[in-house]
This record gives sequence, C-alpha cells and structure tokens, in this order.
Amino acid sequence: MEVHCTVSNCQWWDNNYCAAESILITTDTVGAELPESIDYQQTQSIVNMYGDTPADSCMATCCKTFTERG
Ligand code: SF4
Repeated sequence: MEVHCTVSNCQWWDNNYCAAESILITTDTVGAELPESIDYQQTQSIVNMYGDTPADSCMATCCKTFTERG
C-alpha cells in the first residue's frame, strides 16, 4: 500500500510518500494520552488498554509514527 503524506518535516517523509515500513494511526484523543515514543510495535498494548478506538471523522485521527526530522 502506498501512503501519501504531506508532513514534510517527518523523518519518514520522502517526496510526498511515507517511507516507513509500518505506521500507527490512532485517534487524536488516544494519541495525546500516549508518550511520543509509542509506535506500531505497541499496537496490541494500546488495544488492550483502550479497546477499539473509533473516530468520528478523519480530523480526529493522527499518525503516531511521526518523528520530527533532525
Ligand atoms: S510516519 Fe506518518 S507523518 Fe511521517 S511520513 Fe509517514 S504517514 Fe507521514
């Protein structure tokens, strides 16, 4: 799957594509409660803690794999 992304200051960003092997998307609410270091390796742990986390719209989701370049 291609992941298109415009977040150009992310370390995984490569010319409007995401070059990460895996990414973790969750809701803004859950994302804000978790430390910056949490990523796709902890997906099951997040599900164990929160259960499913449905979102009302695309504006309520975030990429937890984002890491600022540099
Ligand atoms: S990790 Fe997330 S923010 Fe970074 S390039 Fe990939 S999709 Fe965009």
